[in-house]
Amino acid sequence: MQHPIQRRLAQVRERLAKEEYDTLLVVEQANRRYLSGFTAEDGQCDESAGVLFITPDRLVLATDSRYDTQARAEAPEFEIFCYKKGLAHSLPQILTDLRTKCLGFESVRLSYLQHQRCREQLQKQKVSVSWIPTEGVVEDLRMVKDAAEIVAIKRSLALAESAFQTCLAGLSPGITEKELAWTLEKGLREGGAESVAFAPIVASGPNAALPHAMPSERRIRPGEPVLFDWGARLNGYCSDISRTVVLGASDDTFRSVFQVVRDAQAMAIDAIKPGVSTMDVDKVARDHIAAKGFGDYFGHGLGHGVGLATHEKPHLSPLRPMPMEAGMVTTVEPGIYLPDWGGVRLENMVLVTEKGAEVLNTLDVTLHATP
Ligand code: ZN
Repeated sequence: MQHPIQRRLAQVRERLAKEEYDTLLVVEQANRRYLSGFTAEDGQCDESAGVLFITPDRLVLATDSRYDTQARAEAPEFEIFCYKKGLAHSLPQILTDLRTKCLGFESVRLSYLQHQRCREQLQKQKVSVSWIPTEGVVEDLRMVKDAAEIVAIKRSLALAESAFQTCLAGLSPGITEKELAWTLEKGLREGGAESVAFAPIVASGPNAALPHAMPSERRIRPGEPVLFDWGARLNGYCSDISRTVVLGASDDTFRSVFQVVRDAQAMAIDAIKPGVSTMDVDKVARDHIAAKGFGDYFGHGLGHGVGLATHEKPHLSPLRPMPMEAGMVTTVEPGIYLPDWGGVRLENMVLVTEKGAEVLNTLDVTLHATP
């Protein structure tokens, strides 16, 4: 059996054969890891741990001295090129060596400044190359997970769920959102996560009306919704889950909003199977929420792919429809947000199977906290 990385590289090369560019430049860190096994991260958007060049017959990972040893160990399929003065400076040499005439680059990630610097150096050293912006070449491959990736995602999710149990046990009147967020974060790290997938959201009362609220010093009171959204990053793979609970007894508003969200989620999951459009899955949940009178209070998309990145393709939303395929892993996370009152979001992760969808979560969506 072919190693996953060899299979992915073969898929990129198949694509290369059909495109006008003869070399693909990969700068996006999750794509870089997916195609090479090189796990280094970029730190921030104006820093790079390295790039890949993929041609029909060569594979080059260009990096700097900080990552040279790591790159050699982690990416054995690739020739390692260690640049001394930055990528732009060495680009003419690398492209000449690769006989590149036409360079496909990831338009979503290569910054205008990097692009300008690279072009300047090429011009200076009289190397002529045409640049072709590409979109989603590797991201499209990443949508469909292989067996090992699914195992990694399940582990990441199981860890996220077990960290939440501890957090929920600590939910008591007077504890702050920030304290709860830290309990979650600590649980994820102590459970073995290399990091959180994203900064956890803990939003109580009216704060829960903000889909992406930042945990604050607000103290939790009985009877109000508390919305949690968190995830782990374990062996590179992310999890993403949301639950909304009430400390003590819930009120009528909570119970009715919760039921609508819960039903919308169940109906959307039922609708998932290969061939169905992501837009139609979104519509099932959106229509149900609208029919119950909350249409104006569900603004975001229904879900998104999860893998090496927390947010990846496919997007379950009316904006970017595509057919669902077996092997995709996506969240299903309807929400209703009522200004000044709060909100309810329930988020599960599902695997698209040949016949439908398998919910990867084991944590119930209905959770209670006792004061
Ligand atoms: Zn999500």
